[in-house]
Amino acid sequence: MYYYRTMRGIHCTRDVSEGLDGSPASIAGRLTDLLPGSRIYCLNQVHGDGIVFAEDISPGAVPEADGIISCNPEDVLCIRTADCVPVLLRSEDMPVIAAVHAGWRGLAMGIVKKAVERMQALGATVIHVSIGPSIGACCYEVGSDVLDALGRETLQYRNHACYIDLQGVALSQVCGAGVDRRRVHVVRLCTSCNPGEFFSYRRDGAAAGRNISVIGGKSWLLPGLQAG
Ligand SMILES: [Zn+2]
Repeated sequence: MYYYRTMRGIHCTRDVSEGLDGSPASIAGRLTDLLPGSRIYCLNQVHGDGIVFAEDISPGAVPEADGIISCNPEDVLCIRTADCVPVLLRSEDMPVIAAVHAGWRGLAMGIVKKAVERMQALGATVIHVSIGPSIGACCYEVGSDVLDALGRETLQYRNHACYIDLQGVALSQVCGAGVDRRRVHVVRLCTSCNPGEFFSYRRDGAAAGRNISVIGGKSWLLPGLQAG
């Protein structure tokens, strides 16, 4: 009954989505095969700050949003990324789980902070967060548009170019919303630097596959990196 207190999500290695086009439908289909009996939620991610509740989604619908929260830990929440930051969240004191897709645009709109605040509004006080593999500051060279949007807190300046640490921005938002740093796990792996494990839009271009991060149900059965 209280298994959600220790439940972990998974940041899947590319094995799970290899050969798929990365669309919500194809990923949902693969997850349905791998996790039979669970209700799978995928989003039509639009680089916004919209967060939906699983309970409000009609069966089969794919809402336009970049975050999803459920009060039923049997639900499987899925985020697709190819350099953006996947963030998985769970509460230890309430059956509340969440998954967020956070690229620079979503981060600039505070989507990770908003997800934590939504969970807190549901009564969650002890929240665990896993910030998954994304493009790292090693590879994420940005221009003034991204710098203007995100600020310079995680800026690294090398060889006359600017690099941003997106995971660091997500971490800052999580802690700024009141989550204890000791409950935040950051998977410090760069999607672009690790072609064997992860897809990368910067590296592979528009045809890149999608990495998937999942939480809820029996998602811990999938191959990949266990969320903290
Ligand atoms: Zn890198």
